[in-house]
Amino acid sequence: MGELNAPSVENVVIIGSGPASWTAAIYAARASLLPLVYEGAFTEANQMRNLLPMGQLALTTEVENYPGFPPADLGIFLESAITEERRMMLGLHEGNMVTGPELVELMRAQAVHFGTRVVENEITSVDFSQRPFRLTSGDGSEILAKTVIVATGATANYLGLPSETHFKNHGVSACAVCDGALPRFRNRPVVVAGGGDSAVEEADYLAKFASKVYLVHRRDQLRASAIMAKRAMEHPKIVIQWNRTVSEILGTDADGVTGVRLASTVGEPELVLEASGFFAAIGHTPTTTFLNGQLELTDKKYIHRPLPHRQQTSVPGVFAAGDVADEYYRQAITAAASGAQAALEAERFLVQNG
Ligand SMILES: Cc1cc2nc3c(=O)[nH]c(=O)nc-3n(C[C@H](O)[C@H](O)[C@H](O)COP(=O)(O)OP(=O)(O)OC[C@H]3O[C@@H](n4cnc5c(N)ncnc54)[C@H](O)[C@@H]3O)c2cc1C
Repeated sequence: MGELNAPSVENVVIIGSGPASWTAAIYAARASLLPLVYEGAFTEANQMRNLLPMGQLALTTEVENYPGFPPADLGIFLESAITEERRMMLGLHEGNMVTGPELVELMRAQAVHFGTRVVENEITSVDFSQRPFRLTSGDGSEILAKTVIVATGATANYLGLPSETHFKNHGVSACAVCDGALPRFRNRPVVVAGGGDSAVEEADYLAKFASKVYLVHRRDQLRASAIMAKRAMEHPKIVIQWNRTVSEILGTDADGVTGVRLASTVGEPELVLEASGFFAAIGHTPTTTFLNGQLELTDKKYIHRPLPHRQQTSVPGVFAAGDVADEYYRQAITAAASGAQAALEAERFLVQNG
């Protein structure tokens, strides 16, 4: 916790610890709202679910598309911007691009610098039925809040194969926009698993760089909309592997992914495809279960925002930011932008409600 005295009813409690959360905290802190961030907990259960503090970006290596970080010798800057204790947690800087954990840590440090108080624990339940809102944390303590910003993100679904886990960040990814342009995927075949609109979008995006994109689908028809399915089937670089599932990611520790093994859902012999990458495109799971039905959700369980371009949720005074309320963009920069919007809306709500 920071050294500022805690008010008995918090102005703004922010739940989450990714780009949306820290950007909301920076804006709220600079507006003198003394924000309190619950950043999540380092538990084994959270590790299994990819929900450790610092969010999804902390699971990746280089981030090449966040503005403000051209390739540079970042070592000296990071030394001056992040405390030694936190740098020890991150490990030493390598390479000349900012990494995901470093980027989130810089956002956190900026939020703390402006007076954000941070609690290393998670919010386990909420009561939004009356104001002030009531939140319960992992250690059982209760927090009262005038406004709440939910920024708990969404985790990418993977197939759950041990070989897939083994090669994460070494050819296995769940985000073509984030990783597709990396050198290892250029002019080489890659594999995408999935059959919905987002799988076709991922395949289409990857086809800009890869020599060939195998789209592996368990049925004989794509779930994607007719127009998207047509686009995939007519694309000269996309080859659809019908009635197949990925049974193993193949590779070596030195080279990362070198291929995939496919099983058949209709009794055909298995097939091995040579590939430098595997992209899981089987959806995301927004972290909304702990809300226990108190906010309106979309049919895919993202937080519903009733007003266009606003972060307001179905409960006045509760705002949602980042991937937890965005099934469309899911990028660090868009999450950060919506965090800023959520904080500005919370500030206006506090002014209007005394
Ligand atoms: C492997 C990978 C690589 C990526 N690469 C890029 C990239 O290069 N560029 C890019 O723009 N985007 C990238 N993305 C996407 C980007 O990481 C996300 O869009 C972004 O992190 C979303 O930010 P967020 O703040 O909404 O939530 P998140 O980053 O998901 O953070 C939410 C966090 O809140 C915490 N939390 C959850 N529940 C609770 C609770 N109940 N109480 C307290 N805390 C809680 C957890 O720690 C959770 O992880 C990548 C994603 C992945 C998985």
